[in-house]
Amino acid sequence: MKFKLIPYLNKYKWPLALGPIFKFFEAITDLVTPILVALIIDRGIPNGDKNFIITISVIVIVINLVGFGFAIACQKCSALTAFGVGKDIRRDIYSKITTLSASEMDKYTTMSLTNRAVHDVAQVQTAIGMTIRQVSRAPFLLVGSTIAAMIINIRLSLIFVAVMPIILIIFFFVMKKTNPLFVKVKTNLDNVSNVTRENLSGNRVVRAFNKQQYEIERFERANEKFMNVNIKVGTYSSILQPILSLVVNLAVVLVIYLGALQVNVGGLTQGQIVSFINYLTQISASLVAIARLIIIYIRTGSSKKRINEVFMMEPSVKSKENAMALDDKIPQIEFKNVSFSYNGIKDALKDFSIKIMPGETIGVIGGTGSGKSTLVNLLPRFYNVTKGEILIDGKNINSYDLKSLRKFVSIVPQNPTLFSGTIESNLKFRDPNASSEELTKALIASQSYGFVSEKPNGIKSNVERGGRNFSGGQRQRLTIARAIVGNPKILILDDSSSALDFQTDYELRKALKLTLKNTTKIYVSQRTNSIKQADKIIVLDSGNVVGIGDHNTLLETCEVYREIYDSQNR
Ligand code: ADP
Ligand code: MG
Repeated sequence: MKFKLIPYLNKYKWPLALGPIFKFFEAITDLVTPILVALIIDRGIPNGDKNFIITISVIVIVINLVGFGFAIACQKCSALTAFGVGKDIRRDIYSKITTLSASEMDKYTTMSLTNRAVHDVAQVQTAIGMTIRQVSRAPFLLVGSTIAAMIINIRLSLIFVAVMPIILIIFFFVMKKTNPLFVKVKTNLDNVSNVTRENLSGNRVVRAFNKQQYEIERFERANEKFMNVNIKVGTYSSILQPILSLVVNLAVVLVIYLGALQVNVGGLTQGQIVSFINYLTQISASLVAIARLIIIYIRTGSSKKRINEVFMMEPSVKSKENAMALDDKIPQIEFKNVSFSYNGIKDALKDFSIKIMPGETIGVIGGTGSGKSTLVNLLPRFYNVTKGEILIDGKNINSYDLKSLRKFVSIVPQNPTLFSGTIESNLKFRDPNASSEELTKALIASQSYGFVSEKPNGIKSNVERGGRNFSGGQRQRLTIARAIVGNPKILILDDSSSALDFQTDYELRKALKLTLKNTTKIYVSQRTNSIKQADKIIVLDSGNVVGIGDHNTLLETCEVYREIYDSQNR
């Protein structure tokens, strides 16, 4: 779906229509003020007519107060529309992002998506607000002041007609230079954000490895690039206003000089000169306003493009039109010559085949980066396979409804997170209707019951953002508990007991075997001890499957497995 602004504006048509009208009235008050001032100078002062001066002055004050009121009303309308539209767009971006699959998130990065939802939407907001405030006022003042100036003295006005093209030329020069830069500004902003985020979330690692200096330099580089693009944009944009002022002021000087000559010969009054200069100032002010508006539109153009990119993203993983739901039984799973590549260049998993019978326990082992997580992430379809196919009960995994598949397959990812709330709210994540017995059962099986019941509020205890008020091992156990609520048909633990001591790890596996008797279980681990009871063990080595079999067979036939085993059992 393409990103279009009109449907969003529709909802706010009243403030959108009224704002410019209010501003128009304000502009009228601006336009008549110089005439009144001229009256005071030309008639009031020479005649010494105090009453006249006071009356006109009061009228000027009243008119300007009314104008002020209109200005406030317009401001309100502009805020209502701009922030309202901003809120609606952000909501839609957010709901779009939640539909994206892991590959799109990899490609666009979380920070770039965040920047789009925040900065680019803010840019659209600014444009809408500014439009409401200037769309009627600036052109009206420009035309009105020009006509008024012409009425006062057509010859002097010609000075302005001559100056106009100069202003336009400068203006288009600046636009031509800055236009392409705005896209760069945003890309560089994304870079800075990404480096910042990476550093902040990994800041303990950075410190532990004494990599601060290195990381600071990396940040500096991104930051410097960002600065340089901004300076370029700034340089070009900053010449606009001073040159504009210079040109306008030179014109004013010329007006005063030529006007003074005319006053001397009686062609112009002093008041007329004053109001003429007032109109000139208003002309230049409205020119600046229009210039700003156009610059904002250009910037907004690049922001709209970036928002549109989010709108146009099609999740690569989604349910087919006539996708079917899974039957309510434990299915057979088959990987048939499955290969997967993140970038299309190198395979993270190569030509992998296995049949997993209902209720089997499968172990997956291999060094870091060998493709273990890649393999298990294919089952809940976080990614689509690149080659080959995964069959569930003989049918391609893609023919099943995604919701139903993910209800079936419960995975504890390698870096699991808890959400802020309570332990209970976290446990009910998969199944909001889970009974309290079920939750207790999950806590017991995941070896969490002990430390949860020791807390004063038990299961109602607070969980802070990311679960940081729990230790690594406690977090792992709670995420396992969360995964087994709702009785999944397939349970995947991706290195989920790495922070547990051997005894707890052992108890955990025993309990899971008892509680989830029929469930197919896939355990990824770096430790042979954690998986040696498995019916089948898959041994991975840089994306290649170098062995499949049970513990004893592998000890005899698979060298990689034997090496891992020996290194851990010396
Ligand atoms: P393991 O879980 O065995 O440690 P992974 O399955 O996480 O290994 O990674 C296998 C390979 O794929 C590694 O070389 C890793 O660098 C690469 N990889 C993992 N995740 C991504 C990703 N999101 N984008 C690109 N490459 C990735
Ligand atoms: Mg992994």
